[in-house]
Amino acid sequence: MTTLLTSQDCLTLIGEPIKERDMVLWDVPPELEIGTLPKRIYCNKRMVEPLSRAFAELIKTGEVKYLKTWDGCFNIRKKKGGGSYSLHSWGLAIDVNAAWNKYGIIPNLRPQTVRCFTRNGFDWGGEWKKPDGMHFQLEKALFKE
Ligand SMILES: [Zn+2]
Repeated sequence: MTTLLTSQDCLTLIGEPIKERDMVLWDVPPELEIGTLPKRIYCNKRMVEPLSRAFAELIKTGEVKYLKTWDGCFNIRKKKGGGSYSLHSWGLAIDVNAAWNKYGIIPNLRPQTVRCFTRNGFDWGGEWKKPDGMHFQLEKALFKE
């Protein structure tokens, strides 16, 4: 079991989400553009490298064709299950294929697709006790100044 990045970690290092500190508007390089995903992503600066690697692997492995929808990154909100902020509040999580991977249901993503993210710096919500199959968030190990 990996140790997950928490909202407390984010509050300590980055501060309140409302300040939008460390956020960047990332222009996805043309070679990494994925049809259904946006060309520019407003995300935390710490997401650019891992997302670049994940996108490259999705393209290389052909898994990209199983990404049907992009369901967002930055969004200041509380967690679906509880009172603390979601990591989306700092642009440190993304959601994909939400319609088929709703919170609390058995995820419907190919393991090969999941691995493109988990091999490149993300934890997957689909593995949680209450699954959040649409959700990938930055690994704690990559969360630093
Ligand atoms: Zn999410």
